[in-house]
Amino acid sequence: MSSRFFTTEALVIGSMRYLEADRIVTLYTRDRGRLGAIAKGVRRTKSKVGGRLEPFSLVRASLYSGRSLYKIVGVDTLRTFQGVRDELFRLEEGARLFTAVRHLFPVEEGSAPAFNLLVRGIARLAESPDQVTAAGVVLATRLKLLALLGYAPEMTHCASCQSEGPFYGFSPSLGGVICDRCASAGGTSCFSLSIGAMATLSTLLANPLAEVESYDLDDRAVAEVEQVVAQTLAHHGH
Ligand SMILES: [Zn+2]
Repeated sequence: MSSRFFTTEALVIGSMRYLEADRIVTLYTRDRGRLGAIAKGVRRTKSKVGGRLEPFSLVRASLYSGRSLYKIVGVDTLRTFQGVRDELFRLEEGARLFTAVRHLFPVEEGSAPAFNLLVRGIARLAESPDQVTAAGVVLATRLKLLALLGYAPEMTHCASCQSEGPFYGFSPSLGGVICDRCASAGGTSCFSLSIGAMATLSTLLANPLAEVESYDLDDRAVAEVEQVVAQTLAHHGH
């Protein structure tokens, strides 16, 4: 069999209808990273493939590399992660995760650690009991994706002068916390962060995803950390 044909585990990160019966999906594959693929005829009533290509599903897909898109020639469901699609708050948080994947990972560059992390993040999201836990899980997953790429926010030393604090806030362009002195001296673009947000950020970054639901997360701190992550992604994304 030619190397244009291969089988890989994949997360379905996007899906749209195409023509009368086809579906174009975006997959994040273990072996070749993010890629676009077409599934032919999946919207016909007898097709079994269509139902297996729901966003957030983990599948084993057999792909054939075509001229522009890959062609899906077979797909088996490994995990449906139905819990993500069952609640709007989980879907919304899950969408942030896939936006991060699109921003951070170029097309067709496989990373097994990133793939494994995403699968763990989605598994935790599918079981998150409430909005703040879902937000915490997705924030932690995005922080860990950033860390895999060497973009983890610097939280222990001022990103401008290397002092050990006290800290005023965060600079997305310098990628870390900024001390009171550097902030009041001006010249560094940064925004303020509460002590609670700094502690939440450090905790999410340092500890396993499995622990997120045991934290007593505060809505306001989570919203501030969301700003840090969103702006860091915007700075490093493409
Ligand atoms: Zn400083």
